Amino acid sequence: MTCRLFDERKIQTMSGTNIQNCTHCGICRDNCAFLSKYGIDIGDTERLKELAYHCFLCGYCTDVCPEHIDGRQAVLDLRRERVASGEKKAVEKKYRGLIREKRDYIYRNWKHATGGSVFFPGCNFPSMYPKTTAEIVKIFREHGIGTLYECCGKPIAELGLAEDEERIIQNIRKRLNDNKITEIITGCPNCRDFFGDRLGIKVTGIFSKFSELGIGNTLEGDFVFYIPCPDRTERIWIEEIRPFIKGNITFAEGVQCCGLGGCAIAYEPDLADMFTQKLKEQTSGAVTYCASCTGQFRRCGLDRIDHIVTKILGTDERADTSKSYVNRVLTKFK
Ligand code: SF4
Ligand code: SF4
Repeated sequence: MTCRLFDERKIQTMSGTNIQNCTHCGICRDNCAFLSKYGIDIGDTERLKELAYHCFLCGYCTDVCPEHIDGRQAVLDLRRERVASGEKKAVEKKYRGLIREKRDYIYRNWKHATGGSVFFPGCNFPSMYPKTTAEIVKIFREHGIGTLYECCGKPIAELGLAEDEERIIQNIRKRLNDNKITEIITGCPNCRDFFGDRLGIKVTGIFSKFSELGIGNTLEGDFVFYIPCPDRTERIWIEEIRPFIKGNITFAEGVQCCGLGGCAIAYEPDLADMFTQKLKEQTSGAVTYCASCTGQFRRCGLDRIDHIVTKILGTDERADTSKSYVNRVLTKFK
């Protein structure tokens, strides 16, 4: 089982998932606040299609299904079906701000994209952690590694805009090729998972590259980790972070998403807020490795949530929720 964001790298139809095997056992419903709220399971496709944009695309249902049905992929397929069958304009209207920014990323900046290996912080990490971004850029520069500011395309893809998704990937591939880039070092688990092997070059996580180059401090003490959705099942990032931590690692359990997944917050703000409250019930302080998650949890009132990279590098920067948009704009002019 997997919660990878795009397990199948091509556009699927509903027949591409084995949803016909659903026995309506209700296990997915019992493990998902969204499905519970509407009293449906992944096999209730007619109702699920109506509610497809209420789903956080977190993949919890995929993880728990005894029939190995990829519920997350099924919902994404339903979004794509709705777009393909005439709802594209309605989706564009509902998410116009996001689409205006990310369909052809307006804060793109490839000026520092040297050939070979490049750091790919994504769009949310520099928004939330501008000082830490600058520190990473500086350290990598000392190792001959450039930086490119770009959106991976996942937010657009998750809206079901399959044609845009494909175009974004093709454009990034072409630019990488034109700039003779052979490795991307991602600072975001969503970017890494979304890219997978679609770029035709090596995609490396930032902690793995830190280890390779001897960058970063080893941390004393114990940490409670919140695991971002794309890493929940495989836990690749945790394994890459583990060498930096001497103490115990424990995990927050039962929080299915930070609330930003699938842009469902536009329809389900109360559920999104409830996820943070669930995390708050478990811990007064946690760490994670997704800037979107730290920003969202902080906005919803969990103050002690930090990005582990700020501790490994000693920047100790908090997620800048008040100026995140401005920080992102500024990346265009770096
Ligand atoms: S857990 Fe799987 S089999 Fe059970 S209702 Fe959900 S999708 Fe169907
Ligand atoms: S992807 Fe997440 S929010 Fe959507 S149905 Fe599955 S468990 Fe629920």
